[in-house]
Amino acid sequence: MTERISHWIDGKPFGGTAARSGEVFDPATGEVRAHVDFAGEAEVEAAVAAAKAALPGWRGTSLAGRTRVLFAFRELLSARKHELAKIITSEHGKVESDAAGEIARAIENVEFACGAAQLLKGGFSENASTGVDVYSIAQPLGVVGVISPFNFPAMVPLWFVPNALACGNTVVLKPSEKDPSAAVFIAELFAEAGLPAGALNVLHGDKAAVDGLLEHADVKAISFVGSTPIARYVYETGTRHGKRVQALGGAKNHMVVLPDADLDLAADAAVSAGFGSAGERCMAVSVVVAVDPIGDALVEKIAERMARLRVGDGRDPESEMGPLVTAAHHARVESYVDAGVSSGASLVVDGRGIEVSEGGFWLGPTLFDHVRPEMSIYTDEIFGPVLSVARAASYDDALALINANPYGNGTAIFTGDGAAARRFQNEVEVGMVGVNVPIPVPVGYYSFGGWKDSLFGDSHAYGPEGFHFFTRTKVVTSRWPDRSHAGVNLGFPRNS
Ligand code: NAD
Repeated sequence: MTERISHWIDGKPFGGTAARSGEVFDPATGEVRAHVDFAGEAEVEAAVAAAKAALPGWRGTSLAGRTRVLFAFRELLSARKHELAKIITSEHGKVESDAAGEIARAIENVEFACGAAQLLKGGFSENASTGVDVYSIAQPLGVVGVISPFNFPAMVPLWFVPNALACGNTVVLKPSEKDPSAAVFIAELFAEAGLPAGALNVLHGDKAAVDGLLEHADVKAISFVGSTPIARYVYETGTRHGKRVQALGGAKNHMVVLPDADLDLAADAAVSAGFGSAGERCMAVSVVVAVDPIGDALVEKIAERMARLRVGDGRDPESEMGPLVTAAHHARVESYVDAGVSSGASLVVDGRGIEVSEGGFWLGPTLFDHVRPEMSIYTDEIFGPVLSVARAASYDDALALINANPYGNGTAIFTGDGAAARRFQNEVEVGMVGVNVPIPVPVGYYSFGGWKDSLFGDSHAYGPEGFHFFTRTKVVTSRWPDRSHAGVNLGFPRNS
């Protein structure tokens, strides 16, 4: 009997039977390690009802009270991060040090949310007109839905949940069905930290669960992260149902290497950002744009480093890159390697055929050179350990290539020239830019978001924009007439 992963509703596992369920794999062995319940209408209703019932109490909890829960959660998460990292590795496949890194970035967001008392202060204008004061109040939206992807099963939920709760909302979290256990672990820690039952619910499932949240009248906002086609669908469906929606989509991130760059630094960055987490990161470097004449030297340095990368079970501390998440995803990524070969790109390192352990979803790091914009390995988000090198004749050609791409999540430039870097940050049409930094995921007190097809909606995730997204403001214009004019004795002198 495999483990059964159940919804977490109203502060406890949801009982009952599930009409549908999904398999959760151990990607290193290919074995089914658990079955996860899939929500239908009844479970969506139960989760939203629990969140709605918890709303008045949580919204009415003082700022100090909410913050105390977040501080306690931060301590618990920090104390139990190794346990959570193991859970992530067992379902996602990424190496445990990488899973620990994901949790460290998640903790940043919890720490930011702990500043709620400061962040929720409104503005106040005394005497806007004679005797009239004007001030603003930031209030929660109500029940909010968070829908997350498989690739960061702890960090992405925690981009949203702490900020949503800090602002006084209650939450229904729908994690990826591929690695659902981290979300339940997080909900259990929140309960231990003192979060009232119903304030955070975890609803498992697929499209039916997502559609249930998108259409439910009691869900006031949706924060979504996933692939571009689903992000677009979620944005369109959610807004059509009157909700506030932020939907972060896919990516095709370019890293430009100018001829004056430190090529060793650039090659290290390309390998860590291209193959970390087996390339299953929305901020992974997918295309290295080598500006003439350094292409050959850079490709050689990248290939040298790839030969030293240790691919293995994420539980082995020696491993640097784990397997892909599922057999279906593995087949899809491998088909892109085949397509790259048939489209005429030069295959410098071939990761196909690697078998670390029987049954696992293994694909070794793969490198293509002379990739051109019309090839599917360039146009499509592969989301695997496949790095492409495209050659550009000049900085202007490299910039034009990036700006013509429909995605605009992250990018980086490697150069020794501050003026070139400054020009790039100004001219590139991408939401997050690294200068000699390969994966520029903003710290928790900035906000995360791409441009173009990488984000639908106008609020980026977490940080100040996260607080903005999870609140709506009210402006009060107030006059308290001085009744002493009417002869009422208030015991203080009349204003002159
Ligand atoms: P996905 O789009 O397949 O799934 C994301 C979520 O949507 C999951 O919870 C899933 O259950 C749900 N979903 C899937 N199909 C659906 C459908 N037809 N209707 C309604 N809901 C559906 O993405 P994934 O494979 O889990 O994650 C990888 C993708 O996420 C990549 O494209 C990656 O770039 C992107 N991503 C983006 C960011 C970002 O910040 N922009 C961060 C992480 C991942």
